[in-house]
Amino acid sequence: MIDLHTHSATSDGTDTPGELINKALANGLDVVALTDHDTIAGWDEAVRYLRPNLDLVLGSEISCQTEDGISVHMLGLLFDPDYAPLQEVMAQTRNNRHGRMAKIIRRLNDNGYQIEMADVLAQLSEGATLGRPHLADALIAKGLVKNREEAFAELLHNNSKFYVSHYSPTPEEVIRLIKGAGGVAVIAHPLASLRGRTIEPAVIASLVGAGLDGIEVHHRDQNLEERELLSNLAQDFDLVVTGSSDYHGTGKLNVLAESTTAPHQWEALESRARERRVISL
Ligand code: AMP
Ligand code: ZN
Ligand code: FE
Ligand code: FE
Repeated sequence: MIDLHTHSATSDGTDTPGELINKALANGLDVVALTDHDTIAGWDEAVRYLRPNLDLVLGSEISCQTEDGISVHMLGLLFDPDYAPLQEVMAQTRNNRHGRMAKIIRRLNDNGYQIEMADVLAQLSEGATLGRPHLADALIAKGLVKNREEAFAELLHNNSKFYVSHYSPTPEEVIRLIKGAGGVAVIAHPLASLRGRTIEPAVIASLVGAGLDGIEVHHRDQNLEERELLSNLAQDFDLVVTGSSDYHGTGKLNVLAESTTAPHQWEALESRARERRVISL
């Protein structure tokens, strides 16, 4: 089983990177990728917990925004962590997430919700990328909502009046940076319409020009019709098809390896990386 998209507490998952690796081992996965939002801070711990029979792919899910303001997530895998231009952009995005959180909190306060930045930061692991799930956890701690699902459904979803986006680079720019760092770029859940506005399928053609390597087709937030459309695009543009869980520990219902990538697709994807390969013992 190959799962190329998971989160740890280094962003908004709830397992430490070590716990995530232990779960991947216990569940008999063959390949797992650690893809925290806009950070590689969990990589070293994940490597330390690795044991034989599991291949570890180091990556990140990088936030992007199209020129018309649509949020896109780009999975970067097997890239060089020392490639400064990519790390600088990720650091900038992590930083922007703080100003954006302050704005969301202000909107909540203006509507009578008593919550402060300190409450949100108390939910964040040290050095982790800040996101709305941490705000959800702070609202839970205050007894204002039951769980993250309820927090998103009622207050934090992308179409909510409390929603504020954070400035991020365009998907084309992020693809170029990932490729510059020798990695491969897979667009995550491109048509997950339940979450809010998504790109038009035609945009994928332009991303191919920038060097896109693959499309995450099998993901719980995309229905069968959306998956079929994406598979056809992948075939037309000779892109790799992936499937993954987007596991977030107890922060989401997604179960590790609930969707997976076919071995031949993973082989094709890995061969597109410049030199970095999986880590295995
Ligand atoms: P942000 O990065 O701050 O824009 O927040 C987006 C994150 O919130 C994504 O990584 C999702 O995994 C998470 N998220 C979105 N919807 C939900 C939900 N209904 N329940 C739990 N987490 C969610
Ligand atoms: Zn997340
Ligand atoms: Fe995502
Ligand atoms: Fe994700």
